[in-house]
Amino acid sequence: MKSVVAFSHQLLQDAVIPGDIVIDATAGNGNDTIFLSQLVGENGQVLAFDIQDQAIAATNKKLTEHAIHNTKIIQDSHEHVAAYLDTTDQISGAIFNLGYLPGSDKTVITHGASTIKALNSMLAFLRKRGVIVLVIYHGHKGGTEEKETILNYAKALDQQSYNVLQYGFINQRNHPPFIVAIDKK
Ligand code: SAH
Repeated sequence: MKSVVAFSHQLLQDAVIPGDIVIDATAGNGNDTIFLSQLVGENGQVLAFDIQDQAIAATNKKLTEHAIHNTKIIQDSHEHVAAYLDTTDQISGAIFNLGYLPGSDKTVITHGASTIKALNSMLAFLRKRGVIVLVIYHGHKGGTEEKETILNYAKALDQQSYNVLQYGFINQRNHPPFIVAIDKK
């Protein structure tokens, strides 16, 4: 069975093709940014969001190391994603890694309300068969609230328009992360 991170990548890989526009909603250390930039190739584009200096610096460094030029790093909240897309743009994939940046300030966390705003906005740009993947880390203070908010939102999405998947290991200790993925029909 694939780990949560490996499965998140599998979902993106199945939906994204070279030339696409995709979103890393929480750049963090930049690992998913690099992964996405390789999936879309030189004719595609990645928009990578983060609000925290440390994450922006780490992601910039990774892009330089990998000589990547198809990625725009945006220091802004992902809920403002629409401001960085043209109204006719379509995205084929997006990923959120929720929670706090490991090794940094544990008080800078993602929050349910802004995550839902970002999701709502991205769903409007998501093309048919595109996927939004949320890796939900919830063991920290504030994590349970965000987890509940997202599960309630995701469960209520119309099944005529979306497939919504939950993936995770139910016998692991200490609040293991799990995936919620939204596929547009
Ligand atoms: N918990 C994950 C990593 C999450 S990193 C793990 O253990 O691997 C989450 C990132 O989201 C952080 O870098 C944080 O700065 C960023 N972030 C928090 N709120 C945000 C927002 N509203 N918009 C964009 N990025 C945000």
